[in-house]
Amino acid sequence: MRYISTRGQAPSLSFEEVLLTGLASDGGLYVPETLPQFSHEEIASWSKLNYADLAHKILLPFVEADVSSSELKVMVDETYAGFNHKAVAPLVQLDKNEWVLELFHGPTLAFKDFALQLLGRLMDNALIKRDKHLVIMGATSGDTGSAAIEGCKHSKRVKMFILHPHERVSEVQRRQMTTLIGDNIHNIAVRGNFDDCQQMVKQSFADQSFLNGGQLGAVNSINWARIMAQIVYYFYAAVALGGPHRKVSFSVPTGNFGDIYAGYLAQKMGLPIAQLVVATNENDILHRCISANQYQKHGLVQTLSPSMDIMVSSNFERLLFDLYDCDGPTLSQLLEDLNNGTADSLEPQRWEKARELFSSHRVDDDTTCDVISQVAQEHNYLLDPHSAIGVEAGRVCNQYPHVPMVTLATAHPVKFPEAVIKAGQPTPQLPNHLADLLERKERCEVLDNDLLVVQQYITSKI
Ligand SMILES: *Cc1c(COP(=O)(O)O)cnc(C)c1O
Repeated sequence: MRYISTRGQAPSLSFEEVLLTGLASDGGLYVPETLPQFSHEEIASWSKLNYADLAHKILLPFVEADVSSSELKVMVDETYAGFNHKAVAPLVQLDKNEWVLELFHGPTLAFKDFALQLLGRLMDNALIKRDKHLVIMGATSGDTGSAAIEGCKHSKRVKMFILHPHERVSEVQRRQMTTLIGDNIHNIAVRGNFDDCQQMVKQSFADQSFLNGGQLGAVNSINWARIMAQIVYYFYAAVALGGPHRKVSFSVPTGNFGDIYAGYLAQKMGLPIAQLVVATNENDILHRCISANQYQKHGLVQTLSPSMDIMVSSNFERLLFDLYDCDGPTLSQLLEDLNNGTADSLEPQRWEKARELFSSHRVDDDTTCDVISQVAQEHNYLLDPHSAIGVEAGRVCNQYPHVPMVTLATAHPVKFPEAVIKAGQPTPQLPNHLADLLERKERCEVLDNDLLVVQQYITSKI
């Protein structure tokens, strides 16, 4: 399988080339040229598979030109053996036809582990074959950093530099990054805000000369391998609930549009999905776009669901590529116009397609807390704020009451105690494997908000 850029100007690449590259040279994102198709009979035959075996079936067609079946088998087995629940992604029933898919049993307690635990292994495998090394640079306001570090901490081929804004991430989130002491991991606390960190990463990708010939790789959700790994749990949940003979709907707490885009791909690959619900917090550009064809950038709002606090969603470009019939040049122009404000909507017939594919809803902080408290009282189940937004949007948008609505529970409530306490619930406890997190030794370098200082530090460590 080959991968092509959404902007249509960069060369097509193989899976491993895409894995190690990140952004395409024309500024676009890589997508597979074609998608594997699975028949109903084939999907039905998967009902007895465990999570790792299902992942192997679904992911092999995406990687097999570069990765052998047996190599992939070892990687998925190791990845999902590291999760703290034997079902890996257990389904919990809240009500008749209302379900939660718990995606927080990985090492850092958020769904990002599903992809990043595998990504680290895929990268190492590719780098060993090529006898290469990779420098990874990423900016995080919390969740992605720890999941990325956990995914690469055993790598002998990857050196990782994760920037976070000094004193602006929660103690639990900071400690989840800084206590993972591997020699190849470097935490940098920048005396600035998240945007400053992100800007430094962008500038470093644009000019990599400070690496003296080295190559930068990306672990954010523009990396195709992350999207790919997330397709699996849509199949897993649907088959567990009677698919493909019965349709299932999904509601997805959405920020960068990576997770829900994986659900859209699952549908295109043959999984019968009745509805895909985009659930946003007050940073609602996707809700405005899908419900009313209004795509204006607003200022960033800080909410109780910080992992969804985004102004624009980078992976939306991958959907737009399909809506614009894979026309890279037209899409490039549209993105430029949307970005500089000369356009603020999609062509009406393209937007109609988006509306047929997705429903959407925005949930504010007060409602988020109300849902956490209602579900705790009536169903004796504690939601984290991101998942609560998903549950609420699933309820509001539900068009098929007889179809199971599955909300993806993207994080464990212990990661976001502020919302849980505001909802009047007792503070959740850290699970056993993290019980001593607050006593562990930290390692982190505090640096000035200055690109040269940060790059010099990186150069000195590689
Ligand atoms: C990253 C994240 C999201 C948003 O996922 P996207 O793929 O960016 O849409 C939602 N909830 C949690 C807890 C996250 O960490």
